[in-house]
Amino acid sequence: MCPYCFASGYETIKCGFYQVNVGKVKRVQRYYCKECRRKFSTQTGTLTFREHKPHLTPVVGLMLKQGFSQRACARSLEITQATVAKKMLRLTSEYGSLGSIKRFDVLPI
Ligand SMILES: [Zn+2]
Repeated sequence: MCPYCFASGYETIKCGFYQVNVGKVKRVQRYYCKECRRKFSTQTGTLTFREHKPHLTPVVGLMLKQGFSQRACARSLEITQATVAKKMLRLTSEYGSLGSIKRFDVLPI
């Protein structure tokens, strides 16, 4: 379904990939909407939209919820503290607080 005009799946066609160099997901499928003539991907409109390391978002959320500090998260995942802070901001703006998220494995990656 198109996230812009909400056209059905019949109006959208597969249109190439976006190459990802890190993480488990190597390619992000892109689509073209025949109705509004816009392109979008499976990540458009999700929590991990435009993130460079979307596979780490559930892990960071879980660690922060368990009481790890931002710097401790960054150290053990070998990412910068700024990345952890950005992911925390995204998670809290989406779900209100980290404590309200029950299961992190259902987060969109
Ligand atoms: Zn559309």
